Amino acid sequence: NCKNGDDVIKAVKEYNVSFVQFWFVDILGTLKSFQVTPSELEAAFEEGMGFDGSSILGFTRIEESDMVAFPDATTFQICAWRPLERPVARMFCDIKSPDGTPYEGDPRYILRKHVERAAQKGYTYYVGPELEFFLFASSSCPQPLDSGGYFDAPPLDLGNDVRREIIFALERMGIPVEYSHHEVAPSQHEIDLRYNEALKMADIAMTYKVVVKEIARKHGCYASFMPKPIFGENGSGMHVHQSLFKNGKNAFFDANDPHHLSGDARAYIAGLLRHAKEFTCITNQWVNSYKRLVPGYEAPVYIAWAQRNRSALIRVPMYKPGKEAATRIELRSPDPAANPYLAFAVMLGAGLEGIEKSYALPAAVEENIFAMESENLTAKGIDSLPGSLYEAAMLLKGSALMKTILGDHLHRNVVGNKLIEWDEYRTHVSEYEIKRYLPIL
Ligand code: GLN
Ligand code: MG
Ligand code: MG
Ligand code: MG
Repeated sequence: NCKNGDDVIKAVKEYNVSFVQFWFVDILGTLKSFQVTPSELEAAFEEGMGFDGSSILGFTRIEESDMVAFPDATTFQICAWRPLERPVARMFCDIKSPDGTPYEGDPRYILRKHVERAAQKGYTYYVGPELEFFLFASSSCPQPLDSGGYFDAPPLDLGNDVRREIIFALERMGIPVEYSHHEVAPSQHEIDLRYNEALKMADIAMTYKVVVKEIARKHGCYASFMPKPIFGENGSGMHVHQSLFKNGKNAFFDANDPHHLSGDARAYIAGLLRHAKEFTCITNQWVNSYKRLVPGYEAPVYIAWAQRNRSALIRVPMYKPGKEAATRIELRSPDPAANPYLAFAVMLGAGLEGIEKSYALPAAVEENIFAMESENLTAKGIDSLPGSLYEAAMLLKGSALMKTILGDHLHRNVVGNKLIEWDEYRTHVSEYEIKRYLPIL
């Protein structure tokens, strides 16, 4: 638990660390890393480490190609998937321009900005994501390794061993795990992390994805966070449980409300509901994400909230009814292939907008929305999430709120990147079309 550069330098000596990986992410949340030797650390903490930003996605302005990475000492950890002998450590970095100003293309900076804005209003933003993943034999074919289902405990199952080791590795890195289980689809797993402050949790989510992939690789299999790898089976989601605390108390809790939700919680949910269509391009950023958001696979399609109903976009879990600290809301649309920094930033931004503008919360919808007729949906005013990456990108593009939350630079670059991806997909001739049309046309 390092507090500053001196603590890190001491720890590096004490544990005989061979080198330190400096981590940051590009606009899509792809992990970037470079290695720094212990002798460079002192200078790195003082002046940062320069790199050429022009080859990093979304860092593309020619006049800003010189970037400086400043390591965040509080994120120093020994990498648990690397050998213990002469270990490797990692730190997350904040990206700055050579003049010392934070770089607005750095997703970690965008999340930090919103966390700090919330703090100015007295709020601490807590999130607990559930990152689902599949284990496959290789990265070239989504062939399941087992035929297990929800909470199944197949004996001598490779998945059990992999999960167990992932949990040990996470714990060695100071990341507490609450529980883990086999998910609904064959070869699908979930490991639930203990909730944490959003910025810490975004760092943890990045680390989690690396640990899961590395430990799977050690067992000769491939772990994937692709949102919908297998047609006809559940996809992988990243449900995000969230709450705001104020003065050490859960600001979402009200003992006198039938749902135990405070006015803040109601307005926050209303903010998420009203702006969900605009932020879906961030929480579900790939062409494939929209193959998951279809009826019948426990993933949301309709914009509504409920207490028990898992077909709703937002659920208010009541496992421990009335227990203050556990009061939270669960947004079910995000997938684990999102950029966690931007995903948490847009959720917080939309929720705070609801609180600031005192949005009214529509009535809860407790019936199964997948089974409702379309007239009934219209009568109840229930809208749907965007159905494709194209729709989502255009909604993001037209959103004044998202432009404010993400900043002009990130907003423009994400939209631009996603429209290019859509165009590539749109013009591609797929296996489906060859099989379906060639024999008959
Ligand atoms: N896999 C489902 C999804 O896509 C969630 C299933 C579950 O956690 N009950 O969101
Ligand atoms: Mg779960
Ligand atoms: Mg799950
Ligand atoms: Mg869940």
